[in-house]
Amino acid sequence: MAKKSVTDLNVKGKKVLVRVDFNVPMKDGAITNDNRIVQALPTLKHLLAEGAKVIAFSHLGKVKTEEDRLTKTLKPVAVRLGELLDQDVKFVPETRGEALENAIAAMNDGEILVFENTRFESGETKNDPELGKYWASLGDLFVNDAFGTAHRAHASNKGIAAHLETAAGFLMEKEINFIGGVVDAPERPLVAILGGAKVSDKIGVIENLIEKADKILIGGGMMFTFLKALDQNIGKSLLEADKVDLAKSLIEKAEAKGVKLLLPIDVVASKEFSNDSEFRTVAVADIAADEMGLDIGAESVKLFAKELEGAKTVVWNGPMGVFEMPNFAKGTIGICESIAGLKNAITIIGGGDSAAAAMDLGFADQFTHISTGGGASLEYLEGKVLPGVESISEK
Ligand code: ADP
Ligand code: MG
Repeated sequence: MAKKSVTDLNVKGKKVLVRVDFNVPMKDGAITNDNRIVQALPTLKHLLAEGAKVIAFSHLGKVKTEEDRLTKTLKPVAVRLGELLDQDVKFVPETRGEALENAIAAMNDGEILVFENTRFESGETKNDPELGKYWASLGDLFVNDAFGTAHRAHASNKGIAAHLETAAGFLMEKEINFIGGVVDAPERPLVAILGGAKVSDKIGVIENLIEKADKILIGGGMMFTFLKALDQNIGKSLLEADKVDLAKSLIEKAEAKGVKLLLPIDVVASKEFSNDSEFRTVAVADIAADEMGLDIGAESVKLFAKELEGAKTVVWNGPMGVFEMPNFAKGTIGICESIAGLKNAITIIGGGDSAAAAMDLGFADQFTHISTGGGASLEYLEGKVLPGVESISEK
């Protein structure tokens, strides 16, 4: 069933609670990347233009100590939001109480208020029913646009949704359409490219995608556990010895399902985990005992590019190599280029580091969708029900 969209709501003159993801990186009190605020703008602008009274809120970081209460305030975010909207944004440094309630009562249509970090309330992450009910009492309607926390059942998403008509914001809707689309009803052929550091982080994703994909291409650190499972040589590359049997069974499962599972044929190898140490591209069979593979090689990029041809949907999670070091970024760049060059394919990136890699490498505009939620997109790809998505009202 389809979820209700912000465009399905009649918001004029209504107090609309909006859970956004303003969990931006900060350093010494300054925002270092405002992308998440920018991503929230379409929903906020839409509501303001429709004459809603917008009450926006988010968590920011983890709040454990008293010092966190000083450094994790949303105030700088409210200031930046005002600049981006080119409109006054009232900031209320409270998460409940009279000051907040009075500020809301004083709002006019088309105005926006941001209240303090939801995690200043200890009940937030426990989905304390009293807290969700209280926050819900502050508004008439609820819009959830925070996909980044959709995999958590917190008071500021699931808790509020239990009491109010709830719709997805534009960003949430996009995530449901694209990431949800991959797991629910992908256009075929569906090719999944999986990499990253560890098999153990991705077991759920691989298991679920074996059920859905036509092909699975594996790179990154986890390729070596798969190569080991096939009795191949890996030198001193990253290995999860306790996951070799699992890798074996995943390979067998793919075979039984008729899913083509491909591993790299060459790697960029080095004796040290360092950008300063010497490196060379070698066939997997030729990795020396004292070398580790830190990227997939050029032949593997070619092989993967060929397998991508004709794909209708491509989902990518996990860098192909240690892309943070320029000497080991070429595999990830090569795969970015191949995916970006596909015509007539829906191309999607899930996973925090993969999304960061694609953006750092300058491919931000060349994918159909780059997920904004690292952990949430992984759990979605694992086929899990996300509480933040589930709690949105049906159309
Ligand atoms: P995502 O956040 O997209 O799900 P992961 O967190 O699983 O991705 O993996 C990202 C990390 O994997 C990167 O920091 C990268 O350096 C590391 N990585 C990729 N290839 C290798 C490799 N061959 N050896 C060690 N680490 C690797
Ligand atoms: Mg990661």
